[in-house]
Amino acid sequence: MSTLKAVRGTRDLLPPETALWNRIESTARSVFARYNFGEIRTPVFEDTALFARGVGEETDIVSKEMYTWEDRARAQSEKNLSLTLRPENTAGVVRAYIEHQLGETGQLQKLYYIGPQFRRERPQKGRYRQFSQIGAEVIGPPSSGSESPLRDAEVLEMLATLLDELGITGWTLHINSVGSAADRARYNETLRAALAPVVGQMCEDCQRRAVTNPLRVLDCKVPADQHLIDALPKISDSLDEESQKHFAAVTAALDSAAVPYTRNHRLVRGLDYYTRTTFEFTHGGLGAQNALLGGGRYDGLSEMIGGPKAPGIGFAMGEDRLVLTLLAQLEGSAPLQPKADGYIAPLGESLNAAALALARDLRRQGLWIELGDGAFRLKKSFETADKTARQIVILGEDELQSGILTVKNFSTGLQTKVPRQELAAFLSTPPSDGASE
Ligand code: ATP
Ligand code: MG
Repeated sequence: MSTLKAVRGTRDLLPPETALWNRIESTARSVFARYNFGEIRTPVFEDTALFARGVGEETDIVSKEMYTWEDRARAQSEKNLSLTLRPENTAGVVRAYIEHQLGETGQLQKLYYIGPQFRRERPQKGRYRQFSQIGAEVIGPPSSGSESPLRDAEVLEMLATLLDELGITGWTLHINSVGSAADRARYNETLRAALAPVVGQMCEDCQRRAVTNPLRVLDCKVPADQHLIDALPKISDSLDEESQKHFAAVTAALDSAAVPYTRNHRLVRGLDYYTRTTFEFTHGGLGAQNALLGGGRYDGLSEMIGGPKAPGIGFAMGEDRLVLTLLAQLEGSAPLQPKADGYIAPLGESLNAAALALARDLRRQGLWIELGDGAFRLKKSFETADKTARQIVILGEDELQSGILTVKNFSTGLQTKVPRQELAAFLSTPPSDGASE
């Protein structure tokens, strides 16, 4: 029988790497809490129509990357449903905002999520078919201030803080404005005209995009096309006064908070719902998949999926790419998962029960304890302990009777007799020689 493996584009995350995933998620939760965001968890699958309408039929995601299936009716009265594994989470959050009438509160909704997303892409480094995003959305009725450029700047400042606290060095924030829907329509026409004389020299994708959605030409990565694309008119020249003022206010607030950024005139993003501010944080260490996160303002999205006017701004960061970046940065430094404080080695199976009681006591006092087995020879206990813990605690018949335990510290080599009442305090003290554990 052939062995079963994880499906192409999916993978298992194992310790010690999962310790890094947990660290990233708890840092993110702690930063979001400080900015007064609450967590939202939406279903992993949704009605296909949500993404078709919300993300846009013309996008790569909807046109070729979604996992969609017909969910068979269970009863005569029911119809088949077309369902889709979520390829992104913004549409789901906005659907929930509408469904639960969160706008009725009149308050700005600040929501974050952490979870898996699914896209049928060609798997490669930093690109998977199941991947995890950490994202957030700020959305509300216009009266809640949801259109304010200060919200854009605050989200960007929060991201800079989050990346800094995660320890990611050397990120670059690219920002641009794609204007209102009307600005974009105007720019698309300008582009169409400018492309007409040169598009014949460009790649096949660009020839198609020049007809279907000229804006997408700016995303082209084909080297031979770059000089032609750089010479195209810039979207900044097609923005109306309101959009220009909005963008200027965003950058002024970023300047004031000393958040570094670069204006990237070609940043238009792949989803149909973006308006005004769009942004990406990139990192050089990631190779071709260099975007750590992307996001932007989506003032018309709620209406596109049948909701009230609810301007908003959000982002999604690729957690897998954060992990890759941090793994590369951490190479050779501290281990991802620290060793346990102590390993309890019962001398003989008759001491196993007493060892469990000791382990329970120490663990309840907050120590990280690995419990050995009295069936092991002492040599095997020492070898196992050395791999998993900083110290070994010997529990023999004598120790049990006298209440004095023998502890050996692996980094100092010191062996110490410790009374049971002092054991927790003793084990939790870090090694005195400052050895690189
Ligand atoms: P890319 O240009 O890399 O395809 P994208 O524009 O499709 O990214 P978004 O839809 O904006 O990406 O998603 C936000 C972030 O999610 C990306 O910046 C990236 O870090 C991450 N991401 C997107 N697709 C994948 C994937 N298939 N595997 C891993 N991470 C992904
Ligand atoms: Mg993509």
